[in-house]
Amino acid sequence: MASRPLVQDHIAQIQPYVPGKPIEELRRERNLTGEILKMASNENPLGASPLGLEAAHRALSEAHLYPDARAWALVQRIAAELHVAPEQLVVGNGSDELMDLLVRTFGAPGDEGMISAYSFASYPINLQAAGLKVVTVPTRAPLTHDLAAMGAAVTPKTRLVFVGNPNNPTGTYNPGAELAAFLGRLSDLPDPPVVALDEAYFEYADAPDYASGLPLLASYPRLVVLRTFSKAYGLASLRIGYLVTHPELASYLHRVRKTFNVNRIAQAAALAALDDHDFLRRTVELNRVERARVTEALRARGHEVIPSQANFLLCRFPRPGREVFDALLNLGIITRPVDNYGLQPYLRISLGTAPQNDRLLAALDQVLR
Ligand SMILES: *Cc1c(COP(=O)(O)O)cnc(C)c1O
Repeated sequence: MASRPLVQDHIAQIQPYVPGKPIEELRRERNLTGEILKMASNENPLGASPLGLEAAHRALSEAHLYPDARAWALVQRIAAELHVAPEQLVVGNGSDELMDLLVRTFGAPGDEGMISAYSFASYPINLQAAGLKVVTVPTRAPLTHDLAAMGAAVTPKTRLVFVGNPNNPTGTYNPGAELAAFLGRLSDLPDPPVVALDEAYFEYADAPDYASGLPLLASYPRLVVLRTFSKAYGLASLRIGYLVTHPELASYLHRVRKTFNVNRIAQAAALAALDDHDFLRRTVELNRVERARVTEALRARGHEVIPSQANFLLCRFPRPGREVFDALLNLGIITRPVDNYGLQPYLRISLGTAPQNDRLLAALDQVLR
C-alpha cells in the first residue's frame, strides 16, 4: 500500500541543532566531582546582570498575570536607546524565535534562503523548517562571510538572507562599508530580499571598521537587525531578544507572532539590564582583555586562532576538535566541537574569567602534550 510519509522531505532533512553539553549531563556521564567549567555556549562568565536579576525576582510575584503582549515598557526603552520608533521593534523569545518568525512571515515553501558557509546553525534549521531551500555561499579567508559573492548569488527566488556579524561559530566580522555595499547592490533589484542581520555579539565587536547595521535601515527598508539579551546581558535562560526593522515589516511579524511570546520575568529583567551600564562595561572589558590574552597564549603554543570579534575563539589544534573536546571533558571542561559545521579540525571555546581561561590553557597543555 502506498503511504504518505509522516513528514515531508524538508523536515526529515533538517540537521538537528546540537546545543552545548549541559554541566549536569557531563557530571552524570563521567562521574566528575570537581567544578565543571562550561565554555560551550558563549554565555556570560560574569553571570546575569545584577539589576536584571533583581527585577526578575520582583516580577516573579506577578507570575499569575499574563505578560504585556506588546512588551510596551521594554519597547519604549529600546526605541529611545536606539533612536528608532517603537513601531520598528519586535521582541522575541530569544532571537532564535525571531529567526523562525522571519522565515515564516517572509518565506514560503519553495522559496530560497541564503546563508554563508560556517554561519550559525539556527539559520538553515529555521529556513528548512518553513520549507525554504537553503543556498550556501562559500566564505572568503579567514572563514569570513563573502558578502560580494553573496550579493552576486542573490536571485529573484532569494527571499531571505541571513548574515551574522560578528558571526558564530567563526567569530569573524564584515566591516560596515562591506555591509553597506552589499545592501546597496541588493537595493538595485526590483524585489530585494529581506536581510536578517544577526548582531548577537555586537557588544563585543571593537574593530575600528566594524559598524552596526542599524543606520542602514534608512536606505534598505527590508533590513532586519537582530539583537539578544542572552550574551552580553547574561540572560540566556530567560529567552529574550529583539529585532529592529521597517514598521511595515514589523507589522507583519506582529500578526504571525504568538501573542504572549515573551514572559513577564524576561521583559522585566531585560528592561532593568539595559540600565546596568556597569555590568555591560565589565562584561565587554573582561572579554576584550581575555580575548587578546588567550588568543596570544594559544598562538604562542603554535595553535591557529581565527581572529575573533565575539566572546569565543575558534581554534585549530594538532588533533581533531572532537578529540580535544572529549579529552577536555575528562578534565571537567566543556567546549564546543564544530564538526556539525564541517569544521572538523577546529574547536570553539567560549571565553571565561581570567582564572577560568588559565584553567583551560593548562588543561589544553595537558591534553595536547
Ligand atoms: C547566541 C546567538 C544568538 C542568540 O540566540 P537567543 O535565541 O537570543 O538566545 C543569536 N545568534 C547567534 C549567532 C548566536 O550565537
